[in-house]
Amino acid sequence: LAAQVIALKNVRLIDGTGSRAIENATLVLTGGKIRNVGPASRIKMPGEAEVVDLTGKTVMPGIINLHGHVGMVKGLSQDMANYTRENAEAQLKTYAMYGVTTTTSMGTDAEVILDIRDEQRRGKVNGARVFTALQGFTTVGGYPTHAPGVKGVAQEAATAAQARAWVNRLADKGADVVKMWVDDHHETFEKLPPSIYSAIIEQAHKRGLLAFAHLYELTDAKDLVNAGLDIIAHSIRDAEVDDQLIAAMKKNQVTYVATLSREQSTFVYADSPAWLDDAFFRKGVDDATVQAVKTTLKAKQAQDPEREINIRGLDIAMKNLKKLTDAGVRIGFGSDTGPPARFSGYFEHWEMELMVKSGLTPAQVITAASKTSAEALGIGKDFGTLEKGKAADLIVLNSNPLDNILNTRDIHSVYLAGRNFE
Ligand SMILES: [Zn+2]
Repeated sequence: LAAQVIALKNVRLIDGTGSRAIENATLVLTGGKIRNVGPASRIKMPGEAEVVDLTGKTVMPGIINLHGHVGMVKGLSQDMANYTRENAEAQLKTYAMYGVTTTTSMGTDAEVILDIRDEQRRGKVNGARVFTALQGFTTVGGYPTHAPGVKGVAQEAATAAQARAWVNRLADKGADVVKMWVDDHHETFEKLPPSIYSAIIEQAHKRGLLAFAHLYELTDAKDLVNAGLDIIAHSIRDAEVDDQLIAAMKKNQVTYVATLSREQSTFVYADSPAWLDDAFFRKGVDDATVQAVKTTLKAKQAQDPEREINIRGLDIAMKNLKKLTDAGVRIGFGSDTGPPARFSGYFEHWEMELMVKSGLTPAQVITAASKTSAEALGIGKDFGTLEKGKAADLIVLNSNPLDNILNTRDIHSVYLAGRNFE
C-alpha cells in the first residue's frame, strides 16, 4: 500500500524560520512528514497526490508549548485522582484542535503519560505530541507541596544525594526533561536551595536531560543560570531583568518562557472577560466549567489578597519579555496551561496576543512558538519549522497572522503528522 501523499497548494507560507512569508507556496506531505515545500514554481506536483487548493489561506507551523500540564483537571477541580489515560488524551486532543501540536508536561504527571508518549512515537498521534518531566522537584515543604490539588506530586528532595538518585530514577523511567520549582511563593513555602538544584541540573545533564525551572525572582534566575539551567519556564516577576542576567543567559544559551497568560489568569476572571463567551474559547470548554468560572472563580479572584501583586507581576513580566527579546536572549513559548482555569488551546493563542502586547512582532512570536521552542527542547532537527524532512505539523489559517496575531485563531484546519486533524 503506497503512503498517502497530500499536496497543499496556493498557500502563503510562514515557515517558522523567521524569513519572509512565501506567497503561492506548495507543501507536499507524506508519511507524516514534509516531503517538499517551497514556491509553487519550484515544486513538482506528484501525480499520486491528493491536491488541496488553499487559495487565500496562510500556513504556519503547529505551536510548540514548552510549559503545560495534562491529566490532573476536570472542570475546575485539580487532583491526581483525575489523572487517567482518558483524561490526559482528551486534553492532548484539545491542544491539537487549537493547533498546539506539541506540548511539554511540566512535572505533574502519572506514569501513564509514558504509554501515551511511546504510542505517539510509534506513529499513533491522536493529539498533541507530549514530552514529560514526570514528577518535578521541590524541597521538603517546598512549593507546591501544599498548593491545592497537587499534594504529593512534587518530589521533596532533602539532600543533593537524594535528588541525584531521583533524577536517575526519572531518567531510567524515560522522562524527557527535568522540572524543578524554585519559589517560596511570597514566603509561604520552603524554597529549593542552590545546593540541591545544582545537583539536579548536573545529574540531569549527565543523563542527557534538559533542566527546566519554575521561578519568580531575579536573584534565583541568576543563580540557576549560573548553575547551568537550560530553560526558565516562567517570567521573572519581582524585578526588571538586568545586564548581568542577560549576559549570562546569552552565554549559556538559556531559553526564556514567559507564561503571560498564566499571570493574567490569576486575576482576570474578577473582571468578567468577554472572551468567556467567544466561540473560539467555548469550542474547547464545557458550559458547566464556564459557569463556574463566571461565578465561583470570579468571586474568589475579586477577593484574592494576592490580586495586586499578581497584576504587578504581569506588568513586570511583559516589560522583561520585551527587554530580553531586544537583547537577543532566546525566547521560547509556553503558557502553563492545564491547571484549573488555564485552558489548553485557547490560552496558547492568548499567550501569543500578550507577547505582541509586550512589544514583540507577530513574526517574532510565531518563531518563538515554533523554531525556537523546538530547538530549546532539543527536537529542532525534526520539528518546529516547515522545511523539507520535518514533521508535517501545521496550522492552516483563513487570515494572515503577520498582519494581526489574533488571526492565529482564524483556523481553517490543523495537520498533525501529515493528516487533517478533526
Ligand atoms: Zn506549570
